[in-house]
Amino acid sequence: MARKFNFSAGPAMLPTAVIERARDEMLDWNGSGMSVMEMSHRGKEFVSIAEKAEADLRDIMAIPDNYKVLFLQGGASSQFAMIPMNLLGNKTQADYINTGMWSKKAIAEGKNFCDVNLAGDTSSEHFTTVPDEDALMLNTEAAYVHYTPNETIGGVEFNYIPDTGDVPLVADMSSTILSRPVDVSRFGIIYAGAQKNIGPSGLTIVIIRDDLIGEPIEGTPTMFKYSTHAEAGSMYNTPPTYNWYIAGLVFEWIKEKGGLEGMAEINRRKAEKLYAAIDGSDFYHNPVATHARSWMNIPFTLVNRHHHHPDLDSKFLSDAKEHGLITLKGHRSVGGMRASIYNAMPEEGVDALISFMQDFEKNHG
Ligand SMILES: *Cc1c(COP(=O)(O)O)cnc(C)c1O
Repeated sequence: MARKFNFSAGPAMLPTAVIERARDEMLDWNGSGMSVMEMSHRGKEFVSIAEKAEADLRDIMAIPDNYKVLFLQGGASSQFAMIPMNLLGNKTQADYINTGMWSKKAIAEGKNFCDVNLAGDTSSEHFTTVPDEDALMLNTEAAYVHYTPNETIGGVEFNYIPDTGDVPLVADMSSTILSRPVDVSRFGIIYAGAQKNIGPSGLTIVIIRDDLIGEPIEGTPTMFKYSTHAEAGSMYNTPPTYNWYIAGLVFEWIKEKGGLEGMAEINRRKAEKLYAAIDGSDFYHNPVATHARSWMNIPFTLVNRHHHHPDLDSKFLSDAKEHGLITLKGHRSVGGMRASIYNAMPEEGVDALISFMQDFEKNHG
C-alpha cells in the first residue's frame, strides 16, 4: 500500500498519522469496546472526545472566552444563509467583498435576505487579486461584513484582515483555517467546512462571538439558529460524531507539530518554493498578484508553445499520476492545474511536484 501525494482541493489529504491512529482505534476506542461511530453522542466517552477536541482547537487558535465554538453540519454553504438569518436583526443591508467563486455564492445567498453592498469587487480583474484595504467601501449601516480570506478556486488570499470598526466581520475560512496564526478577536464569526484543513467533510466549524448569538429573523428554523446549537453545546440533535473525533485527532497532530506557528513556517516554505518554481520558468504561469497569492491553493497553467501535444494538460496530469502526484486538475472555471497544499500535504509532496514539473518542462517545454 502506497499513499500518494493528493493535491485535491477538498475533501483533501489528512495527516497519515491521524488516519493510522483512527485505524488503531477503529474497533475499540480506549478500552470502551466500541467504535467511536457506535457511541451515543451523550455518553461519557463521546462527551470526553468532543470536549477535548474543542479545548484543543481553542488552545491552538487562542480563541477568547467570549466566543463559542460550534460543531455543525450542512457545510460552509449552509452558513451562507445562517449568517444573514442570525445577524441581520432589524437591519436591511450587509457588506460583502467579492473576490471569487465562493464569495459569489455567499453573496447570491445573502441577496435572498438583504440588500447586498459590494464593499470590494475584483471581478473586473478576473479575481486575480484582493482589493486594497483603503479602497474598501464599507457601510456603517451594514449588519456585518462578509469576506473570503482564501478563495480556494482562484488561489487568492488576503494579506490583511479588513478593519470594519464596530460592524462584525464574518470570514469564510474554509480553505485557510489552521494554516497560520490568526487574531480571532478581530472577527465576529469565523466559519469553515472541515474537508480542507480540519477533517472529513460533513462537519462545519463556527466560531462566533457571544453577542452575535442573538435574535434571528422571524421564521428562522430551529436548526438554523446559532442559539439552538450554542445553548446545547452543539448537541441539540445528533452531531457528526465521527468527523468531530477525527477533527480532534487533527488538532492533536497540529499541537505536536508546533501549533499554528509551526504550521505557518512549513506552509510558507511549501508555497514559496512552488511559486518560485512557477515564476522561474516561462512554461508555467500563475496569474495571481504576488501580494494576494494563496499559501493553500496554487493554480497554474502550461504554455503549449510547440503544440507537440494538442492536449498538454492531459499529458501533464497522466504523467503526474504515474509519479504518484494526483488530483492536480484545475477547477473547470480556471483551467490548467491547481495544487492544493493544505497542512496535511508533506513538504516532500511539494518537492516531488516541483521536481516532476521541472522534468516535464525539459521534455515538453
Ligand atoms: C469548499 C469551500 C466551501 C464549500 O464548503 P461546503 O462545506 O462544501 O459547503 C465554501 N467556501 C470556501 C472558501 C470553500 O473552500
